[in-house]
Amino acid sequence: MTREKTRLFVDTALGVGQSVDLTREQAHYLFGVMRLGPGARLALFNGHAGEWTAEVTEAGKRGGRLSVLGQSAAQLDPPDLWLVFAPLRKARTDFIVEKAAEMGAARILPVQTEFTNAERIRQDRLQAHAVEAAEQCGGTFVPPVENLQKIEKLLDTWPAERRIMFADEALVGRSRALADDTARGAPWAIFIGPEGGFSEPERKRLRAMAQAHPVSLGPRILRADTAAVAALTLWQSTLGDW
Ligand code: SAH
Repeated sequence: MTREKTRLFVDTALGVGQSVDLTREQAHYLFGVMRLGPGARLALFNGHAGEWTAEVTEAGKRGGRLSVLGQSAAQLDPPDLWLVFAPLRKARTDFIVEKAAEMGAARILPVQTEFTNAERIRQDRLQAHAVEAAEQCGGTFVPPVENLQKIEKLLDTWPAERRIMFADEALVGRSRALADDTARGAPWAIFIGPEGGFSEPERKRLRAMAQAHPVSLGPRILRADTAAVAALTLWQSTLGDW
């Protein structure tokens, strides 16, 4: 089947002949914003079953119904890469989550570090940004966004096999890139600090971990949101699925 431009994430099973009831928000998006009507086609994905073409069978203001016609693309999961970052002010945090979903992160973990400004995050809002990013970039996978947790807690139970690409601003200007034979195919995580950087004890702890690979992101200090995108690019082009 040809791939439709309008794409919608749904929280249901997908298969030929399946009917999908729309929530009020989904109906508003499809019929109010995208101006679809009965008979129109769109693409559906649920995060794990690939992409499917569906047809609008009922269109209302507060709801509607779709019928699934057939599969249009196979499931594409990202490499096993987590993005661990310290949330910034609202719009910049939104940006990081959106870009991480587009760039193929498998899991997004906001952490509170010593110099993190944000006390709390709206996990549901951030998750909705990840869904929207997947809808817009043709993805079939949506990375889960976890709740905010303290970095110490995360590191206390860090899995032995998961490598850490530690973006260490102390290496600015030094060439410390990722070697392309470093544990390709292994589980990885990228660590990005807050605007104030990682504290000295945090840097020490990260550097002391056997899983850590400290890297430089070039001769300039990047803002944390830029650093997240740069690090994802570097990892994906060296060890990922690009
Ligand atoms: N205020 C800090 C910079 C923080 S930048 C200082 O002046 O030192 C925010 C985060 O982005 C850093 O914690 C680091 O994880 C990452 N980062 C930014 N530029 C970097 C670079 N050139 N190399 C490695 N990491 C970098």
